Parts: sequence; structure tokens; C-alpha cells
Amino acid sequence: MEERTLVIIKPDGVERNLTGHLLKEFERNDLRISRLKMMQADMELARKHYAELADKPFFNKLLDYITRGPLVVCVIDGEEAVHRVRELVGDTDPKVARPNTIRTLYGKDKTENTIHASDSVESAEREMMLWFGELYEK
Ligand code: GDP
Ligand code: MG
Repeated sequence: MEERTLVIIKPDGVERNLTGHLLKEFERNDLRISRLKMMQADMELARKHYAELADKPFFNKLLDYITRGPLVVCVIDGEEAVHRVRELVGDTDPKVARPNTIRTLYGKDKTENTIHASDSVESAEREMMLWFGELYEK
């Protein structure tokens, strides 16, 4: 089924000049970039994006990380895009992710894991509204 998913190249990815390389990985795998912007997230947006993790001990560290510099937000379209993008991205912890996923190749640790991808069609809808909806259209 044709799907859309939200991908964020997190600040550590942008800092290390990985933006072009990571976007190309999706295109190389027959996925299409349909929206794209570079921006810095403020605390309010970061808190909304990660709302379901608000009670975790690492929440504040996560907010500081995700807001510390520019990130690249995009919508990626394609057949089974949600699942296929998560496969390319790999497990949350770069150390346990399968070999050759983006996070094993480039993630620094469990917080600074270089990239975000929506985990379901429902999350993708919510996150696309949050990052590209009218509320945050600049
Ligand atoms: P994801 O869907 O694979 O990104 O993982 P989650 O939705 O569970 O967590 C969101 C983000 O929070 C992750 O991508 C990490 O940046 C961070 N994170 C998740 N779990 C941990 C953890 O146990 N420790 C730390 N320090 N950061 C975490
Ligand atoms: Mg998640």
C-alpha cells in the first residue's frame, strides 16, 4: 500500500554533514521525498513530538538534543513507506540495530541516533500535521 511517513535528520546528523547522504539512501531505495525543510525545533514543538515519552528519565536530555541545532524534516512517500523506512533506519539503540542500518552506521548512542522515522501510519499522520501543518508553517 502507498504510504507517507515523517523522517527527521536529527541535529547530530546535520552537524556531521550527513544530510545529503541520508536523503539519497531513501531515493536509492525507491522512496520519494515529497516535503522537505531545514529548521530548528523549539521546546514546545519538541515536547509535542515526543509527548509519549514525557515520563521517561531521558526526556529532558532528549529535548535538549533535538532542539540544539538545525534539523531536516521530510515526508517520504512510497509503497509500505512506514515499515520500509523504519527498516532502513534500524533499532533505537545503534548498538543493537541490525548491521548496515542508518543508526548502526552513524548513530552515536541511544539518544544521538541520527534520524527519526514515524513508527506507524497513525504516528506519521500526527507528526506530519505537527511539523508541516498550519500551526508550524513558517
Ligand atoms: P524510536 O522510535 O526508535 O526513535 O524510539 P522511541 O520513540 O522509543 O524514542 C524516541 C527517541 O528518544 C529515540 O530515537 C532516542 O533519540 C531517544 N531514546 C529512546 N530510548 C532511549 C533511552 O533508553 N535512553 C536514551 N538516552 N534515549 C532514548
Ligand atoms: Mg518512536
